[in-house]
Amino acid sequence: MQSSSILNTWNQRPLIISGPCSAETEEQVLFTAQRLVATKKVHLLRAGIWKPRTRPGQFEGIGAAALPWMVKAKELTGLPYTVEVASAKQLEEALQFGVDVIWIGARTTANPFSVQEIANALQGIDIPVLIKNPINPDIDLWTGAIERFEKAGVRKMGLIHRGFSSYGNSAYRNAPMWHLAIEMKRRYPNMMLLCDPSHICGRRDILLEVSQTSIDLDYDGLMIESHIDPDNAWSDANQQVTPEALAILLDQITWRKEGIENEALHTAIENLRQQINQLDDELLQILAKRMKLADQIGTCKKENNITILQTERWIEILNRALANGRDLGLSKEFIIKYFDAVHMESISHQNKIMNS
Ligand code: PEP
Ligand code: MN
Repeated sequence: MQSSSILNTWNQRPLIISGPCSAETEEQVLFTAQRLVATKKVHLLRAGIWKPRTRPGQFEGIGAAALPWMVKAKELTGLPYTVEVASAKQLEEALQFGVDVIWIGARTTANPFSVQEIANALQGIDIPVLIKNPINPDIDLWTGAIERFEKAGVRKMGLIHRGFSSYGNSAYRNAPMWHLAIEMKRRYPNMMLLCDPSHICGRRDILLEVSQTSIDLDYDGLMIESHIDPDNAWSDANQQVTPEALAILLDQITWRKEGIENEALHTAIENLRQQINQLDDELLQILAKRMKLADQIGTCKKENNITILQTERWIEILNRALANGRDLGLSKEFIIKYFDAVHMESISHQNKIMNS
C-alpha cells in the first residue's frame, strides 16, 4: 500500500530526486542521504542497485544486498527512496524492502519484453513508476512503455528525460533532443515530466545550463546524481556532484512558476525555439551530406581534368532553387544569397580535392 507520505512526495513541485548513481557501500549511501536531507531541497533518494552497464567488466551494482542500506537511509532521514528495476525479480526484491517509487532505466524502456515483464509483475500493486526515455530516439517506445504500465493498472506514472545516445562526438553524453520530450508533453500533458541532466550531460560543468533549459520548458522537477566523493564514484564519476554542490546548483536555477500568462508565453516561445534548433541541426547535417556528394564530383572532375566551375550547371541549380523558393514563400534575395554561399562552399571543397 502507498503511504500518504509518498503522495506528498509525488506532488512536490519542483520534485527533486537525488542520490548516487550506484549504491556502493552502506556508509556511502547513509552519508549521502544525510547530507542530502540537510540541504532541505531533496524529496526522494535515488541509488542504482543493479547497474546496466554497456560493457562487461565494470561495476554492475551491489544488487539486493544494498536494499537494506536504502531502508536504513530512509529511517535515518525520512526520505522515501527509488531504485531502478529491470526485471520482475528485481521488482519483487525491491518491493520486499519497501521501495517507494520504482524507475525504469533507459535500456529497459527500449526493450518491450522487459517492460511487459515488469508491468505484469506490477498488476495489483499500487506503486508510482518513473519511466526514462529509451536510449534510442524513438518516442513510440517511450509511449509503448506508458501504455504497458497503464494496462497493468499503474496509476501514478512520471517520465524522466535523460537524453538519447548518438554516434560521434557531441557536447553531451546523451543528446537532449528536447523536441522529443516536448512531443511527449503534447501526448501526455498531465503526466509528470522530470529531467535527468546528469545522464544528458555526462559532466558537471553543464548541469546547470541543462537543468535551466528543462525548467524553462516547464518540466516538473529534476533527477540529479550526487555522491559524497564524486571523483571516486564507482560509476558515472564525471557527472556526479556533492550534496552541497547540488544545493548550490538548485539555488542558481531560476524557477519558473506555472500558469502565469507570461510564463506560458515564454514556454511557447521556448518550444518553438527548440523546434528551430532541431531543424537547424538537420539543415547542417543535410548540408554536410551535400558537400560529401560535391566531394565525389570533385574526384570525378580531377580524374578527368574538368574545371570545377561548370557555369551551365550553376545557372541550372540557381534557377531550380528560385522557382522552388518562390512556391515556398522564400524571397529571391534570400535564395540567391543562400545558394551562392552553398555553391562557394562546394567549390572550396572541390578545390581541396583537386589540389591535394
Ligand atoms: C542511472 O540513472 O544511473 C542510469 C543507469 O540511467 P539510464 O537508465 O538513464 O542510463
Ligand atoms: Mn548513472
